Amino acid sequence: MKPGSPESGFFYAKKMEIVDIKDWGLGLSEHLLIAGPCSAESPEQIEAIAKGLKGSRVELFRAGVWKPRTRPGSFEGIGEDALGWLEIARETLNVPVTVEVANTEHVEQALKAGVEVLWIGARTTVNPFSVQEICEALRGTDIPVMVKNPINPDLQLWLGAFERLNKVGIKKLAGIHRGFSDPYEKRYRNKPEWSLPIHLKRLLPGISVICDPSHICGTREIIASVSQRAINFGLDGLMIETHHDPDNAWSDAKQQITPDTLKIIYENLNFRESIEAHPEAISELDKFRQKVDLVDTQIIELMADRFQVIKQIGEYKKGHNLAVFQPSRWQDVMESRIQSGVNKGMTEKFMKSMLFAIHEESVKIQEAQLKEAKTSNKV
Ligand code: PEP
Ligand code: MN
Repeated sequence: MKPGSPESGFFYAKKMEIVDIKDWGLGLSEHLLIAGPCSAESPEQIEAIAKGLKGSRVELFRAGVWKPRTRPGSFEGIGEDALGWLEIARETLNVPVTVEVANTEHVEQALKAGVEVLWIGARTTVNPFSVQEICEALRGTDIPVMVKNPINPDLQLWLGAFERLNKVGIKKLAGIHRGFSDPYEKRYRNKPEWSLPIHLKRLLPGISVICDPSHICGTREIIASVSQRAINFGLDGLMIETHHDPDNAWSDAKQQITPDTLKIIYENLNFRESIEAHPEAISELDKFRQKVDLVDTQIIELMADRFQVIKQIGEYKKGHNLAVFQPSRWQDVMESRIQSGVNKGMTEKFMKSMLFAIHEESVKIQEAQLKEAKTSNKV
């Protein structure tokens, strides 16, 4: 069978059977809240955090036992010994626990310790060899696995990890959106790129995606607003790093929040009701949507008219041996159109990206016309 053919599994995603978080048998609900420290540091630390989280909506306790660090010498996690401490969180909060695994040894030790949910970290999802190694270690189990997005914004890589897991029989799957590395990004530690988790949900029907605002933000001040955005974008829950003494945490100190802050943030989140529960809203919205459909049709027709004129200009340029791109004309078009758009309430950023897209398409059309002319001249 040729690799990459549909039978080989390349187009596997759409056929994947996924068990919803609510059916993992762990009492988890929609709007799942996962909380706990970046790293397990000591039994006392786990106890202090778990006690602090009492009375919160937390349903799954997280703690990093093996920490993937960018550079050696940082705290790399306690390892296997810390798995036993998680019992303190289970007992105090009466919730299951989750840890990150990155190789066979981690999986074996976590399974032996009765960890209820595993997660694969961003630095592991980027490497199909590592993901496959984890899959082999999981073959024959049905433990739930959450997959963080890879560090780079590569949807295929993220999707591939789910496919590998599903092929060894893991059906209890969820994604964790923790943002993407971008050297030019200043505001966030990891740029959210909200369209990626949304695309993942489209490509993998039935998958829940939990947002991890802690690793997106890198700093605790913006965790509340990023959490709200995740909900607005329809993500299915939150994983927030929580520590009783965040400033003195052994890893990711700046982004951790106290259990009390977590409670305040969660109480202030605005969860809108699912539209499916409101049939009257559906018919009301349908009226607006019909209008939107009509306007979209008009936009497409006008755009086609515009490209028709572009072709006529192309013919003229071809006949008179003129260059396709005329910078002064382009400058005028940009300035005047951006201004009209802004006057009508659209942002400059939106106008620019729309005009760039239109211009790029126009240049391509005219280049194709010139190419055609060159090849026919040769004949
Ligand atoms: C973590 O959750 O502590 C972690 C290491 O996250 P990520 O893999 O998203 O960097
Ligand atoms: Mn962390």
